Amino acid sequence: MSDLANDTIAAISTPPGRGGIGILRLSGPDARAVALPLLKLRHSLAHGQARFAEVLDVEDNAVLDEAIVTFFESPNSYTSEDIVEIAAHGSPVLLNHILRSCIRNGARLAEPGEFTQRAFLAGRLDLTQAEAVHDLIESTTLHQARVAAQQLGGALSRQIAPIKEKLVHLIATLEAGIDFAEDDIDLLPAAEIIAQIEAVQAPLRALEETFGYGRIVRDGFTLAIVGRPNAGKSSLFNCLVQRDRAIVTAAPGTTRDLVTERVSLEGIPLELIDTAGLRDATDEAETIGIAKSREAMAEADIVLLVLDATAPLHAEDEAAIAAHTARPLLIAVNKRDLAPSSRLLEHSSHTAIATSALTGEGVAELRSAILGVITAGAPSSDTALLTNLRQQQAVSNSLAALSRAHRAVNAAIPHEMLLLDLYESLQSLDALTGVTTTDDIIHLIFSTFCIGK
Ligand code: GDP
Ligand code: ZN
Repeated sequence: MSDLANDTIAAISTPPGRGGIGILRLSGPDARAVALPLLKLRHSLAHGQARFAEVLDVEDNAVLDEAIVTFFESPNSYTSEDIVEIAAHGSPVLLNHILRSCIRNGARLAEPGEFTQRAFLAGRLDLTQAEAVHDLIESTTLHQARVAAQQLGGALSRQIAPIKEKLVHLIATLEAGIDFAEDDIDLLPAAEIIAQIEAVQAPLRALEETFGYGRIVRDGFTLAIVGRPNAGKSSLFNCLVQRDRAIVTAAPGTTRDLVTERVSLEGIPLELIDTAGLRDATDEAETIGIAKSREAMAEADIVLLVLDATAPLHAEDEAAIAAHTARPLLIAVNKRDLAPSSRLLEHSSHTAIATSALTGEGVAELRSAILGVITAGAPSSDTALLTNLRQQQAVSNSLAALSRAHRAVNAAIPHEMLLLDLYESLQSLDALTGVTTTDDIIHLIFSTFCIGK
């Protein structure tokens, strides 16, 4: 399926529902032939030009709508195929009728992501760019959109290219050595091979490390607010939400008895979880509440422990601090308005900030501290990020094969064996950009798209 497809696909590319404009997209060799019977054009279609047209009902030739029709001629289109886009008025009934007419004229209903899949199969986009199309569409903050746009522009592929080049060079040198070597004479000394492997490993490791931040940018991160009843968790939650909520479509609600709210912190989506319900708890409910709270703590990317500055450090809090080592823990010593000289801060080995949910004091510092934890792993802004697990896995597989190669050199294993590992490493890099991705994986990736993309 690597050549251009021979069928023509159709889909409504604008979101479901009513709108000022609704766009129907056709791609394939018959795009024009499918569309023309529906259109009464004053001027014939020409590449890259928008044309005014009346849209006709194929059954009785009645005028259904007026539309702007744009044509892109193969190979100069998104999919490399002929594309016709009919921008009609955004009535679902109308658009569905036009779509049905297109199907009757020989087009096939597009599968989710199929336009972008065709662009990929035609070599217009590599796999990381195709994924970026999806991420761009799904982005909820401008920062996410920027990262996706950077990837769409080929940033990740450009980062990989020189790494791959080094690896290919090493493989070629070793292959040449095997071809020409007589009596096991190495053309390349072991130390030189090691140096070259390491020159591939270093930038690849740096790239792998971007995944921590890339994942956060793409998927957002969660912050669980925990602490004893009455410490001020809900009050601080509200402080943090009020300041940022307006930026992002708020999706308030309770998840598993926890109050959650999505906000945007400098463009990074943040899900705040208030482990509510402890305060008014009866014994049984309290047990459940504590379990939920523990669960939230275990799953959150960051935990914010709220302490009451007017009370001494409770054994429960100490236990929470001691138990929490795997992920970042921030401490808010709250109610500083009541106890400005609380010494709770001094005992802490974690970042602790004095706050007052009542006066708002310290809340800005708290936000910066949260942001500091998130962006701790952020690479410089022009570095491409790995943004999904598939990409991370490809890089990590590539690195694993390099490590085996590294060990093989040290163990003086024949170059034929060493080469197998290097080829595997190269294959993983190719899989990242989709040079050698199996049809199954490709199908899986594009099926996450919506129809019409
Ligand atoms: P939670 O049980 O941890 O969620 O605590 P709440 O946020 O419900 O707060 C418990 C009580 O402490 C409420 O009466 C709040 O008004 C009060 N409170 C919360 N934060 C502060 C603060 O910073 N200063 C003062 N003076 N009172 C606070
Ligand atoms: Zn609360």
